[in-house]
Amino acid sequence: MYLTYFKGQWAEGNVPLFGAMDHSTWLGSSVFDGARAIRGRLPDLRPHLERVIRSAERLGLQCPLTVDEMEALVREGVARFPADAELYVRPLVFGADGFLVPVPDKSAFALTLFDAPMPPFTGFSACLSTLCRPDANMAPTDAKASALYANTTRAIREASARGFENAVVVDSDGNVAEFATSNLFLVTPEGTVVTPVPNGTFLAGITRARVIGLLAEAGVAVEERSVHPDELLTAVEIFNTGNYGKVTPCIRYEQRTLAIGPVATLARERYLAFAGAA
Ligand code: PMP
Repeated sequence: MYLTYFKGQWAEGNVPLFGAMDHSTWLGSSVFDGARAIRGRLPDLRPHLERVIRSAERLGLQCPLTVDEMEALVREGVARFPADAELYVRPLVFGADGFLVPVPDKSAFALTLFDAPMPPFTGFSACLSTLCRPDANMAPTDAKASALYANTTRAIREASARGFENAVVVDSDGNVAEFATSNLFLVTPEGTVVTPVPNGTFLAGITRARVIGLLAEAGVAVEERSVHPDELLTAVEIFNTGNYGKVTPCIRYEQRTLAIGPVATLARERYLAFAGAA
């Protein structure tokens, strides 16, 4: 079931949001976020709602709701589903009206919830993309701006044409930034857990920060540093973090097959334990 809150009411199905006179329709002024409801628990909901406000501000939009108001709406929406549901929660802020002018006059808010079971821990394939993330002075790279996802789509299409599900995108220096849709972690042959250090080109995710903290609590340090793409050719584990799948192993990278390793397994278990207590 799809459930959307828009203009003060809840409605089911594919609710129309952008109009022919909305800025976002023509000029891409929209930001969104994603969080999960897992059997009534809402891990890291507030950071995701806080980020949608920050993302909006980066585009000159003003989220019309406070974090508390959004949280109350999310809880109201979740209560309309069965108690054991696994849901995806997506707030959206977009430029309404002002379709002819460079700066939108008004910001609108919508919230969609839908059934989306947690993806299984079976793994995905990825290749190295020819596309890179824009630098911070080229695009609002720290905002979850819908417009940035046009490039994500291009990277995934390119990967798909080569028979892979996801792609590793680099920054303008050629270092690993992230997967097209999520943050990247690897384990070196020496056993060090590494993730690219945030340098403004990619979204330093909420799940990424949570997983670094959970691994630290379990005695596993994560090194944040520049990562050369060649390191992916020798890594003993590669996995991702993101709000949708939380922690998922990469089991095929370019020509290589990788096992689902102990660090990804630990990170997933710790995340689910955290989510169960949230
Ligand atoms: N990078 C990109 C491009 C993403 O779309 C996401 C998912 N929002 C992430 C990283 C992971 O961020 P988070 O853990 O905050 O969802």
